[in-house]
Amino acid sequence: MAFVIPAPKTPALPIKGTDDLFPVRRVYCIGRNYAAHAIEMGHDPDKEPPFFFQKNPDNLNSSGEFPYPAQTSDVHHEIELAVALKSGGTNIPVASALDHVHGYAVSLDMTRRDLQAAAKKAGRPWEVAKAFEHSAPIGEIVPAAEMGHPASGKVTLSVNGVQKQDGDLNQLIWKVPEMISYLSDYFELAAGDVILTGTPAGVGPVEKGDVMVGEIEGFDLLRVKVV
Ligand code: MN
Repeated sequence: MAFVIPAPKTPALPIKGTDDLFPVRRVYCIGRNYAAHAIEMGHDPDKEPPFFFQKNPDNLNSSGEFPYPAQTSDVHHEIELAVALKSGGTNIPVASALDHVHGYAVSLDMTRRDLQAAAKKAGRPWEVAKAFEHSAPIGEIVPAAEMGHPASGKVTLSVNGVQKQDGDLNQLIWKVPEMISYLSDYFELAAGDVILTGTPAGVGPVEKGDVMVGEIEGFDLLRVKVV
């Protein structure tokens, strides 16, 4: 049997130090996972249950360029640690959650903030603000077998050489094992799933021509030009 239309390509991410690729199945993103960012967005930073939204696998973008998106005049950077799963399941205990991690990467959760604000006000879903073309620039995946599981380390983002975001992985409200465990209570996780773990304070707009440089301790820089 053949497909009646050409089968879509499987989105895939580069892996540091090899020519191999990581095939992507789903992309989950957590909201408000650093207290200082929750406060800047007008929310109480107390440890309330986490909430998640999704981007599309083909929104991941390893090109080094971020095309300024349509239908917005306020697109924001959010630097985030990305977690790539090699296996999954349901009801995963926190204690064994890291066994499912293939590796980690530096990523950006680009957000049409004006559309997100309108959606929040109207009680509507966030897809138009979050899950658009090229909206998740991402660097190479570094296997956990090489780097271990980062639980602390500086997280910064600069625009045109000026630092805008500054945090540390040790400030994550919900830690990576907790996120995996919590998600697995609601969804069946599987190999190929990617989780964006939330952004520290200092989010803000970019314009065409800007160069964003994201840095998480232990990773190569993620350099992305807005085009
Ligand atoms: Mn985010």
